[in-house]
Amino acid sequence: MTGEFDLIDPSTEKPIGSVHLASVEETDEAIARAKAAAPSWAAVAPGDRARLLRRFADAVDADIDYLADLEVRNAGHTIGNARWEAGNVRDVLNYYSAAPERLSGRQIPVPGGIDVTFKEPLGVVGVIAPWNFPMPIAGWGVAPALAAGNTVVLKPAELTPLTALRLGELALQAGIPEGVFQVVPGAGPVTGARLVSHPDVRKIVFTGSTAVGKTILRGCAEQVKRVTLELGGKNANIVFADADLERAAATAPDGVFDNSGQDCCSRSRILVQRSVYDRFMELLEPAVQAYRVGAPADPDTQMGPLVSAGHRDKVVSYLDDVPIAFAGSAPSGAGYWVPPTVLAPIETAARQWRDEIFGPVVAVVPFDDEADAIRLANDTEYGLSGSIWTRDLGRAIRVSRGVQSGNLSVNSHSSVRYWTPFGGFKQSGLGRELGPDAVDAFTEVKNVFIAT
Ligand code: NAD
Repeated sequence: MTGEFDLIDPSTEKPIGSVHLASVEETDEAIARAKAAAPSWAAVAPGDRARLLRRFADAVDADIDYLADLEVRNAGHTIGNARWEAGNVRDVLNYYSAAPERLSGRQIPVPGGIDVTFKEPLGVVGVIAPWNFPMPIAGWGVAPALAAGNTVVLKPAELTPLTALRLGELALQAGIPEGVFQVVPGAGPVTGARLVSHPDVRKIVFTGSTAVGKTILRGCAEQVKRVTLELGGKNANIVFADADLERAAATAPDGVFDNSGQDCCSRSRILVQRSVYDRFMELLEPAVQAYRVGAPADPDTQMGPLVSAGHRDKVVSYLDDVPIAFAGSAPSGAGYWVPPTVLAPIETAARQWRDEIFGPVVAVVPFDDEADAIRLANDTEYGLSGSIWTRDLGRAIRVSRGVQSGNLSVNSHSSVRYWTPFGGFKQSGLGRELGPDAVDAFTEVKNVFIAT
């Protein structure tokens, strides 16, 4: 699990190069460099750190075409998505570039002296990223960590290291000092596990599966290491009878099939009020069949391939023992294709209803009333996102408050804005990324009392 790892274009199955996967010793060397760079990075004046982050953002902005092209070939992302993803890294860097000058402590009245708090960096932060959104998810950890004065070792997923490596180059070009932000491709159980077990890494930001997240949490517990976990989801798209059904049906495919369903926020369970169930399915079928699946570099393509043969096989294994209501099309021949697929009718005990399939597969069930919808939506150990379609504001609020999930949208499938908090309830995660408070998760509060 160290040495050269071949990279394949998922839309053609052709090799696009290889990447060196680090050994434990190489990982340790990167951590040592990050530790050595930490004191001077923490000491950079806030305005200068802010300027460096903005220059990093500018370098990403100037490189969007290149980064997007890399992601199309390495991860099979559509060109439209890949450009958005690179732009998101730029935006997150710009957003958190405002943080160094605003990171302030408090003065608290205490008799006999002055009491002040400081927000101090943690030191070395390890960011372990998944393959489904290699650029944005890296950025969500890296930008606030650097802004707070930490140094970062980023471990991209084995399958998708290319854009992360490019971000490392861009940071250096922008003047971020050597050792402050390093990208170390490596296997999860080698480089990822070493970041978790190394005593000089003070925090782990992990995004990935709930199963691996539990291993990371156990590992962090050994050293009381700070940890943020962004894990899986099995998100409900709840459609009430009073909703704009045409819009709900027209947007449902994007809600689940975007990024080929390889999205922790994918609305992979559709709950439809029984009285409009048949009508909704009639509207959904042509929308799914019209979904354009094909070459990811074509700007008209809405959905590309899955990331790997192994993942394609896993997704397809979910289509064996279940009724398929209807499906869209996908190219035949080379590439890891799965057509957009709608499962119904389905039992709520079925694995397709319960497991995170992480592919272009959605299951639909009817519900009776608000209470039933909330019960079904919450009948999962996940709690990441979800949508509610209704024209009744009171219902929208009641159901939003009833669903145990970190990110809900009403009459929309939007989940992520870099300036609002993002994260999961229950086994979907621990802590929040993005938004105004994320920088605090990369600091320790120190309280100092000065007797007068
Ligand atoms: P994964 O858990 O297999 O891998 C994620 C990362 O962890 C990779 O870099 C991998 O190399 C590393 N890793 C694997 N084993 C490790 C170990 N023992 N120690 C340390 N690191 C290890 O996940 P994946 O298949 O790459 O990504 C898909 C999953 O990520 C899905 O479950 C999805 O829901 C989740 N995800 C969650 C969010 C969120 O924000 N909540 C966002 C995107 C993806």
